[in-house]
Amino acid sequence: MVPQARVTLISTPAFYGITNVIYEVTCTYNVAAPLFKLSPELRLQIYTHLLTFPTPIHLRQHVPGTPHTALLRTNRQIHHEAQAVLYDTNTISLSRNDFCLLTDPALQTPVEGLQVRHLRFTSFGESLACNVLAERCAVCKDDARGLLEALGGMPVLRRVTIDYSTQIASFMRFRQLAAEEGGSRKGLTVTCISVGVYRVHGAGFDQVDFTFSHRPLASIWPDLATLSYSLLSEEEQETVLARLRTQDPDTPDKLWLLLWAAQHGRLSDVLGEQVAGAWVDESSDALAGMNEQQRDAAMHGFTVMLQTFLKAHTAVQCRRVLGLLRDSVGM
Ligand SMILES: [Zn+2]
Repeated sequence: MVPQARVTLISTPAFYGITNVIYEVTCTYNVAAPLFKLSPELRLQIYTHLLTFPTPIHLRQHVPGTPHTALLRTNRQIHHEAQAVLYDTNTISLSRNDFCLLTDPALQTPVEGLQVRHLRFTSFGESLACNVLAERCAVCKDDARGLLEALGGMPVLRRVTIDYSTQIASFMRFRQLAAEEGGSRKGLTVTCISVGVYRVHGAGFDQVDFTFSHRPLASIWPDLATLSYSLLSEEEQETVLARLRTQDPDTPDKLWLLLWAAQHGRLSDVLGEQVAGAWVDESSDALAGMNEQQRDAAMHGFTVMLQTFLKAHTAVQCRRVLGLLRDSVGM
């Protein structure tokens, strides 16, 4: 049967050849046979191949006129089946603006709250509407209560990541308010769990992996920390750095200077005595001996120090200083 023959082709793991795969499916259900002649399992496989994306998706960017999601507009039943797959397998990219109560809904991404499992917020800033008004809506207020309630009402939500790197002050205010309110928000706590990453616990989020993440730090730091403990030569280290610079041209050199200085006992030359005291080696015994509260305070202090350093210096400056330090120790 022709439909089965086509599906065999679709089921190949040629994920990055997604355009070719779509072409084949189009032939299958426009020319050869209706999609509904296939079993539900095969239809599900087709939806999964067509609608699973390697990076978070912006719904508005993909919906109009792209082959990827044109499938959703084929008919009502396909829309119903395929949309469930779309929300099940992908991370949906949103901003706080999409939940703002005072923003025109026509300017917001429509979110199927009952089906969304993974969300990534590209921004934690208040909406433009609330930015210019004297009174902010419950979503955009500093304590973000309205946003937490909206997320708490999503029954199958399992992961939320909010990138706060461009709104550090807003996030710090949110963290401070959560700490001050204590139990009044049914035990909502915001804990720094690793460099640049804070986990939200309680208040209905026990089933949800809910984190605030300073994206440049969270994505670059773990690789560089590992590199600093490796036995690679300077040349090999440079290869790793060059790869990281393609992800983020700015952050790797800044963090690498600090990690190098920490390893060679020159941290106070770079940061000054006092600031260098906030240095926390994530794998050190000092951290292991701390209780959760102390660990949170230490990791938070360290994160703030790194964020400040990233903001205050340029990558070019950091490379130059590293060169000087290397010369001074004869490396
Ligand atoms: Zn608002």
